[in-house]
Amino acid sequence: MSTSLPKAGPAPKVGIVSLGCPKALVDSERILTRLRAEGYEISPSYAGADAVIVNTCGFLDSAKKESLDAIGEALKENGRVIVTGCMGGDADAIRAAHPGVLAVTGPHQYEAVVGAVHEAVPPVHDPFVDLVPPEGLRLTPRHYAYLKISEGCNNRCSFCIIPGLRGDLVSRPVSSVLREAERLAVAGVKELLVISQDTSAYGVDLKYAEGDWYGRKVRARFADLCRELAEFDIWVRLHYVYPYPHVDEVIGLMAEGRILPYLDIPFQHASPTVLKAMRRPAAQDKTLDRLQRWRRECPPLALRSTFIVGFPGETEEEFQFLLDWLQEAQLDRVGCFKYEPVEGAAANALPGAVPEEVKQERWERFMETQKAISAARLKDKVGYTLGVLIDEVDEDGAIGRSYADAPEIDGSVFLNGETGVKPGDLVDVVIENSDEYDLWGSIERVE
Ligand code: SF4
Repeated sequence: MSTSLPKAGPAPKVGIVSLGCPKALVDSERILTRLRAEGYEISPSYAGADAVIVNTCGFLDSAKKESLDAIGEALKENGRVIVTGCMGGDADAIRAAHPGVLAVTGPHQYEAVVGAVHEAVPPVHDPFVDLVPPEGLRLTPRHYAYLKISEGCNNRCSFCIIPGLRGDLVSRPVSSVLREAERLAVAGVKELLVISQDTSAYGVDLKYAEGDWYGRKVRARFADLCRELAEFDIWVRLHYVYPYPHVDEVIGLMAEGRILPYLDIPFQHASPTVLKAMRRPAAQDKTLDRLQRWRRECPPLALRSTFIVGFPGETEEEFQFLLDWLQEAQLDRVGCFKYEPVEGAAANALPGAVPEEVKQERWERFMETQKAISAARLKDKVGYTLGVLIDEVDEDGAIGRSYADAPEIDGSVFLNGETGVKPGDLVDVVIENSDEYDLWGSIERVE
């Protein structure tokens, strides 16, 4: 008598299109992890998939258009489409444009997305299903991973609909965040990118509740979390931090070399009048002083930010104030957007819409100003040795990033001819050349 176990049918295959910010990417990773755990395979193409999930972004109207286009493409190429993510909060708009979608679920509704997949493509019971690696599945290269520490936001910036879509701040318990970070570090991740909507507000909703971590009590508090993450001995990079006074505490960790001396602070503007109209968190009048103090305490500190020009009511004087502030602040990395009204945002009701050509002209002046600052700051690095994490290697050489470069949004360090390294290697690089955004160098060879 044969004792062989019944053989399962072919695994159902699901494709995923992930749009939007790194936070949406983390959501996609969680959905995929769940599906893989249930025996689904992930299809890299429309043609090979039994259904396609489109994880949308609904932040700006241009992102909504991109999301609707992506849904249309998935419907055309595959036909069986499940929509999730930020724009999923507006199911009516999606169904109006694409009545053929199978299901629409909102942001972070992992259960609902997985339920919709079950309905569209029932799971096959297979006693031999692949076990998911304990660190989960990631869409980013193996050597870096995003660590999402909270959802939602307690702020009410007038141009933003995220609190309406995602609700108020909900922080993850500290032990759950640390457990995920530990799993990632053990799995070989070399860089953790800490993300949320407002990283420095971490734990406020939990009243900084303590969690157990290897027999110790750790508070769910921004600086305490950073101190613990530093213990994993890998790069820790902080995104979406506001310059609240308690951020001072992490500058010490940066100065000690325990977490990367890098802060991504979305300032959005500098003029007090515009910031007030934007209803931005954290008083800005002392911000320049605070940046200077941080730099004195931790001279290598790299600062990245994003700004909006052409916000309703922004006058030429207020814009000029922003340019002057930029000159003083000497930020390392800066992104700039022309203001766009977002459906449902309070800012839409503000008077003083700035004409498109004025927005464009301000955007160009802003970029010119920052380009010169960025070029000068990068030039100052020539002749120094920097630790570089390798992202890609081909027959011409390698591309990596220094502590001052977050993946996808900042610059790169090009290592022409350096083919003896692999992604995830951390090497010392002598910087030889620079331009407005990137650096070039060679691996330091010790005689
Ligand atoms: S801080 Fe402001 S811009 Fe950022 S998510 Fe919260 S409300 Fe939106």
